[in-house]
Amino acid sequence: MILLKNVSKSYKNGVKALRDINLEIDEGEFVYIIGPTGCGKSTLIKILDGEEIPDSGEVWVANTNVGKLRHSRVPIYRRNIGVVFQDFRLLPTMTVFENIAFALEVLALDKVTIRKRVREVLQLVSLEDKAKAFPRELSGGQQQRATIGRAIANHPKVLIADEPTGNLDPEMSKEIIALLEKINEVENTTILMVTHDSSLVNSYKKRTVALESGYIVSDLTKGGYHNYD
Ligand code: ADP
Ligand code: ADP
Repeated sequence: MILLKNVSKSYKNGVKALRDINLEIDEGEFVYIIGPTGCGKSTLIKILDGEEIPDSGEVWVANTNVGKLRHSRVPIYRRNIGVVFQDFRLLPTMTVFENIAFALEVLALDKVTIRKRVREVLQLVSLEDKAKAFPRELSGGQQQRATIGRAIANHPKVLIADEPTGNLDPEMSKEIIALLEKINEVENTTILMVTHDSSLVNSYKKRTVALESGYIVSDLTKGGYHNYD
């Protein structure tokens, strides 16, 4: 589903954000990407969603050669990828239902199909009773669940969660991880969860790719990460 071959990326200021990254992630995998601030996590996400182009190497996501994508094809390519951020980014003037429906309206689906999928998604993220609520009326955990619902509404092949628990307490963080695991199982979505929280990664035994100064320093199937700082 995801293949990076010898990918390197430097910024104009000379910072080498990614160095010779080789990474293969199969369809339906759940992978943690971990490492300290500045190790290259955001750059990796930006390369996967077509926002940054690598200096060298190949990037394939869902059979698309992302590094060679024409600018005009990027929005269509991005339909393959759902992205969830730490700071939720729900539209404040829309209800939870409308926020999720909005992600489908841009695909020009008919109203009945949209409503059916929104109901399905609300059930999946356990927010059926909050369909008519506005984001400000929800707890942080509920807002993050709504954001995840919006990100998966159009059945993306890959879901990238960038520090999705960064603004949440440990209880809510567990809830969000449980939800991502459920989506991984029920929808078979390939999931990349980016985090710098080693205690969280160590309590869920999943494949964990660790970055440091732009290099992959470990890639362990059963998880596990030790911060040696
Ligand atoms: P480019 O390298 O593509 O010219 P810019 O340097 O203009 O990009 O920065 C693009 C974005 O990245 C801006 O939002 C900027 O705030 C952010 N940015 C710039 N430098 C850094 C840095 N050293 N670390 C993290 N983000 C940065
Ligand atoms: P992380 O997400 O792990 O904190 P980043 O990918 O944001 O790491 O950053 C990797 C390195 O690249 C850092 O040294 C950062 O300062 C630098 N960097 C990130 N974005 C930019 C940018 N737009 N311009 C210049 N340097 C950047």
